[in-house]
Amino acid sequence: MAHQAPLFSRVAVIGLGLIGGSLAAAIRQHGLATTVVAADRRADELQTGLKLGVIDEAAESIAAAVKGADLVVLAVPVRAIEPVLEELRANLDPTALITDVGSTKGSFVASVRAVFGEVPANVIPGHPIAGSEKSGVSAARANLFENHKVILTPLDDHQPQALARLTALWEGCGATVLTMSVERHDEVLAATSHLPHLIAFSLVDTLAGEDDNLDIFRYAAGGFRDFTRIAASDPVMWHDIFLSNRDAVLRVIDHFNQDLEQLRQAIERQDGALLLRVFSRAKAAREHFSKMLSGQAYVTTMNQKQVTFHLSPGGSMTGDIRVPGDKSMSHRSIMLGALADGITEVEGFLEGEDSLATLQAFRDMGVTIEGPDNGYVKIHGVGIDGLQAPRGPLYLGNSGTGMRLFAGLLAAQAFDTELTGDSSLSKRPMGRVADPLRLMGAVIDTADGGRPPLRIKGGQPLKGIHYDMPMASAQVKSCLLLAGLYADGTTSVTEPAPTRDHTERMLTGFGYPVHRNGATAAVNGGGRLAATRIDVPADISSAAFFLVAASITPGADLTLRHVGINPTRTGVINILRLMGGDIELFNEREVGGEPVADIRVRQAPLKGIRIPEREVPLAIDEFPVLFIAATFAEGETVLTGAEELRVKESDRIQVMADGLAAVGVQTTVTDDGIIIPGGQSISGGTVDSHGDHRIAMSFAVASLRAEGDIKVLDCANVATSFPGFVELAAGTGIQIRAEEA
Ligand code: NAP
Repeated sequence: MAHQAPLFSRVAVIGLGLIGGSLAAAIRQHGLATTVVAADRRADELQTGLKLGVIDEAAESIAAAVKGADLVVLAVPVRAIEPVLEELRANLDPTALITDVGSTKGSFVASVRAVFGEVPANVIPGHPIAGSEKSGVSAARANLFENHKVILTPLDDHQPQALARLTALWEGCGATVLTMSVERHDEVLAATSHLPHLIAFSLVDTLAGEDDNLDIFRYAAGGFRDFTRIAASDPVMWHDIFLSNRDAVLRVIDHFNQDLEQLRQAIERQDGALLLRVFSRAKAAREHFSKMLSGQAYVTTMNQKQVTFHLSPGGSMTGDIRVPGDKSMSHRSIMLGALADGITEVEGFLEGEDSLATLQAFRDMGVTIEGPDNGYVKIHGVGIDGLQAPRGPLYLGNSGTGMRLFAGLLAAQAFDTELTGDSSLSKRPMGRVADPLRLMGAVIDTADGGRPPLRIKGGQPLKGIHYDMPMASAQVKSCLLLAGLYADGTTSVTEPAPTRDHTERMLTGFGYPVHRNGATAAVNGGGRLAATRIDVPADISSAAFFLVAASITPGADLTLRHVGINPTRTGVINILRLMGGDIELFNEREVGGEPVADIRVRQAPLKGIRIPEREVPLAIDEFPVLFIAATFAEGETVLTGAEELRVKESDRIQVMADGLAAVGVQTTVTDDGIIIPGGQSISGGTVDSHGDHRIAMSFAVASLRAEGDIKVLDCANVATSFPGFVELAAGTGIQIRAEEA
């Protein structure tokens, strides 16, 4: 960065210990002040600070340090704040910004009030959430705050300019700044920091008392060491913190005692179910918190990586495979399993974004769910009226389906709920479900423009309605049918065009009657769901890549097992058959209300067709790979009536046309589709998938008939929708290698 004027001219740090020293060092290292001066009651600490280059100047006294300072940082133990303020008061420049780093904020504000009679507008309390068990300036590190949070707790009448400068200072040290009220800070820290320290101190002390020789620690495993690390923290500092944050700490100790006693009793009366429920809820919550705190989508591990597919031309397509489970069905199996009476076992569960978020939400509402473990999930259903009030908002990550389906389900519960999601979900409109639910009697608040969070008021009796959907949406239909389970009378929904009917089928699979008549589906409220076993059918959208791969590859012969062939999803089979594909369905059966079959595909000479518009909604996700089939077909393929493709994860028509052009294939993009002249060959080249998993996988399929190497960029999302794609593709004969950066 170019040289800019430092943010402050003279920073006075009072208390040159671990935190004061680290902040001083960071300020110097990043050039955030012209001079950093410190005062401490220990002259040797100041000398060490000078020697280590942590500070520019050591002051004789606190009064001398603050003279002429435009920023004063109090980094002494919290109970020393008041005497220190008394001491610096006379020499303080009235315009100087004053802040602190103390672990409790109510006590700091009280000390400021006691000394100044008020909290001046240029006082901004602060607390870096970083540190260690060590103390003293020799433990100070300039990078201590990098990638850590700093909480600032400005009071109502603070000076905005002061807050902005202090924020810039901490950000300059590499920290992320959050602001909250003093009270909220003290409550949050009582729970997340103070209570754990108290427990660690107490546990180590208890165990030490149980065995005079401390012999017991000889056998301590790594878990004990991790768990009690913080019991090595400075006793004086912590004694200060507990005395300063008394009320908030007492509240959380009482809550903890109560829960601990409940566990004690459960062990006493051999209540394994309660233990299992609490432990699995805690385990899941532990995994969930990190996602939630960062406001990220539920499944993010792969997204942060850059993944590139490298494909060599040619290859074969043979084998007997099963592709991952269907997302919509995985998701709904959890919902209905949770509401059913008895235990539902699910196999072939797709551990994707939506279903994991849904699983966590039900755990938050008291449902015990074991797994997922290699696609196996066991749900201890609580019955249609057995959900319990969650302790906080239900976080649904990126799942729009989740939010819309939950809105229907939760509108009918006895308790209030709040539904939140990541930043992208928070932009999506929820009015399309909130409006008809309100007609049923639900009370739902949304943010501006009908967006999340949704606040749903409990205890509202719902009445059945008939709803003519203004747009074709399986999510809206499903939402209303789920609310209809609880409504008085009949709830019926008519759709203007066919949409996926997984909710209706799965309700039937759980023994709940759904009446279907043409474009209308209806349920009567007041029934119950019976637990079942579901072997989630393989996702036909994932199978589609292999259907096309085998159709275009010389000598191909591939069997796909247990594929869902719900008629609202089989457009890809119908279209490939119209093009001359050799696709045979056998072993047809029904699972959880859904039709499934094994599928055998062999290579066949394909011909270009005009795709019937009635097939378009049934194959909407499969067009990218169908375009690859069209490229090798004989004659022209014309797609019309597919405007929706332009607003998917990417503008799929344009992105596919660009990708095809990059490997030498000519197409003509139209307003609502594309024209692909057949009989073309694919040279090599580099394709940007724009993060669209289906585009990435389509070009992996294209490589089977390509004449040169193909590189596909931005493929990380493939792992979310189709875990194991690269291995399965390589196993059946695609010459693929994924490279992670
Ligand atoms: P530390 O390493 O012990 O440093 C505190 C320094 O302040 C010591 O040099 C201490 O001297 C000096 N001091 C104490 N009373 C004083 C007084 N009346 N006048 C002048 N100097 C005085 O402690 P720390 O870990 O940096 O903690 C400082 C503050 O940061 C505390 O309020 C703490 O709550 C907060 N904090 C700590 C952590 C952490 O993990 N350590 C994290 C976040 C916030 P003596 O050695 O003579 O006592």
